[in-house]
Amino acid sequence: MASVTLAIFGALVGAVLGSTMSALAYRIPAGMNIAVARSECPSCHVQIAAYDNIPIISYILLKGRCRSCHVQIAASYIVLEGSMALLYAVLVPLYRWGITEVGIYLAVFIAVTGAIVDLKVRKIPNVLTYFGMLAEALLVVGRSIESHSLAPILPALIALIIFGGSLFVIGILTKGMGLGDAKLVGVIALALSSFGLYFIFYVILGSFALGSLVGVALMVTGRASRKSAIPFGPFITLSFLIALLVAKL
Ligand SMILES: [Zn+2]
Repeated sequence: MASVTLAIFGALVGAVLGSTMSALAYRIPAGMNIAVARSECPSCHVQIAAYDNIPIISYILLKGRCRSCHVQIAASYIVLEGSMALLYAVLVPLYRWGITEVGIYLAVFIAVTGAIVDLKVRKIPNVLTYFGMLAEALLVVGRSIESHSLAPILPALIALIIFGGSLFVIGILTKGMGLGDAKLVGVIALALSSFGLYFIFYVILGSFALGSLVGVALMVTGRASRKSAIPFGPFITLSFLIALLVAKL
């Protein structure tokens, strides 16, 4: 497929994923059922019709208001849908299609959703990371079946244990790093296991570097103290995205 076709396809998938992320980031912290397909207006609780739930387009057509009660809908919806459309429009032509690549696109979805929820409630929910690890593990098994070899399984196990496992232990021992962060790294480690351990190591190193930079900047500007808890998930996600793009430069 031509790169342009892949970019358009990526943009469509990204817009839908961005819309799903908004729904999950709203429903998970509120303890709502995430399996229900239909969304409702947070203000008047009227169910949003399918034709009013088209990512980006509906927001523009309805001028960012609920059709029923005309309350202003947060701009974060269209911002997230737009930025995910852009991100996947860049990623899909770069990585194209295959079982490994689907794993990467899924990990991006889990990581960005986790980062948003982490920023909102300072916690990366298990429902995201456990689903992510299970799906990524199944994709590794899929790669193994596809290649008629057990070769993909060992690096995936090692990556999960070395990176997810060590951060999990550090999280339990120091209570500084959240266990949700460690589980998110587990999802990313499984997705990137065919890229080599050093690649995953760079992602984690990058997240600590970004986290320290922002932490110091917040302390210098007096917006955080040494004791402030800064959510770490967004830095893992940012480092993961940067690594994916830099790897294809
Ligand atoms: Zn409404």
